[in-house]
Amino acid sequence: MFDVNKIRKDFKILERKIWDNKPLVYLDNAATTQKPNVVINSLVSYYENYNANIHRGVHKLAEEATTLYEDVRQKIKDFIDANSTAEIIFTRNTTESINLLAYCLDDSIIKDGDEILLTEMEHHSNIVPWYLLRDRRNITIKFTPITDNHELDYNTLEKLITKKTKIVSITHKSNVLGTVNDIQRIAKITKANNSILIVDAAQSAPHMKISFQDLGCDFLAFSSHKMCGPTGVGILVGKKELLEKMPPFLGGGEMIRKVTFDGFTTNDLPWKYEAGTPNIADVIAFGTAIDYIEKIGLENIYQHELKLTEYAFKKLKQFDFLHIYGPKEITKRAGIITFSNPVVHPHDIATIIDQDGVAIRAGHHCAQPLMKKLSVSATARASFYFYNTPEEVDIFINALNKAFDYFAVGACKELKQGVKSKK
Ligand code: PLP
Repeated sequence: MFDVNKIRKDFKILERKIWDNKPLVYLDNAATTQKPNVVINSLVSYYENYNANIHRGVHKLAEEATTLYEDVRQKIKDFIDANSTAEIIFTRNTTESINLLAYCLDDSIIKDGDEILLTEMEHHSNIVPWYLLRDRRNITIKFTPITDNHELDYNTLEKLITKKTKIVSITHKSNVLGTVNDIQRIAKITKANNSILIVDAAQSAPHMKISFQDLGCDFLAFSSHKMCGPTGVGILVGKKELLEKMPPFLGGGEMIRKVTFDGFTTNDLPWKYEAGTPNIADVIAFGTAIDYIEKIGLENIYQHELKLTEYAFKKLKQFDFLHIYGPKEITKRAGIITFSNPVVHPHDIATIIDQDGVAIRAGHHCAQPLMKKLSVSATARASFYFYNTPEEVDIFINALNKAFDYFAVGACKELKQGVKSKK
């Protein structure tokens, strides 16, 4: 049974007090999540008991470390429902996974004159790698627009795909709007057009059950640190035939089969893309995080976040001068609430509510093109995970109330009256 109070005991950091003895209310989970004690213990245990370099050693420690590391690949394969462990590549983070693709698809797939289709709601990590590719090749990058309800405009997306569109790269869940995109619908279009479909699952994989095979995409990327695992571990899932076709990313040890004075041959998948000593301890601890999340259950996580979002929305109604971004229907955007108002800057809101122990994010959220589309320079964002509670939402709302009183009580009141007289 899902018991949030019991779950919270698994996280030492959630006992922390901030400033003058305020309980920590951590609502910055879209940036990174907290780590349960089992994950921290797993890191310590690796260094205390198994530390050795993997794959090449014949001694007992090296064998044990290799087994622990490769077992995690199998866990991820099952977690994300990939076809085989050959399709699971360890990287440093989602950003590196997408950069790997932008680098390796160049030449093997992309030619001058080709087009890449993104969306207006992408994180910089799914924009800049493609700009870097555009700096090397004469290609065009297009952006699928969002609708007034902050969903993808699927009709326009269909029109923007042409015979020249080699790659469609798209976020599964927006880190600003919370919008969850219909990847299966897009996969049908890309398949019919022979385009490669890449999915940035950084914000979806931690919060909802995903099947790589059912989504129908060609590549999928996500980060350990956004799902209770350590920083420094990312995952790239890719279709075997494409991973085989692409050249390697980085060169060095591990990714080779043979090196001579003339050249080299590449290792089998997945190691072809894993040059050098990997992040062994963190990968092993990520395996522990996956076990932990699976025990809680992704459906329970999704439902809990949905309830928290619904509750927070109800409470936020009192601030009718706030502009809340993302789809109006909560089921389309669970877990993330991004807002702003024309009077108090989001950084000021975040700074003031921090005094009450409430951690939210303010800024452009690494989505400057989207900010431009929304006609703001910054927004404030509260983002939930399964260890957050309705009581924490109450503290957040009370802290917001204080912030508006502190900064702009008069201006907010006027705004409020303005909103009412317009109704
Ligand atoms: N994509 C999305 C939608 C994100 O929200 C983030 C991080 O916030 C990233 C990609 C980049 O993740 P990382 O910094 O782990 O590479």
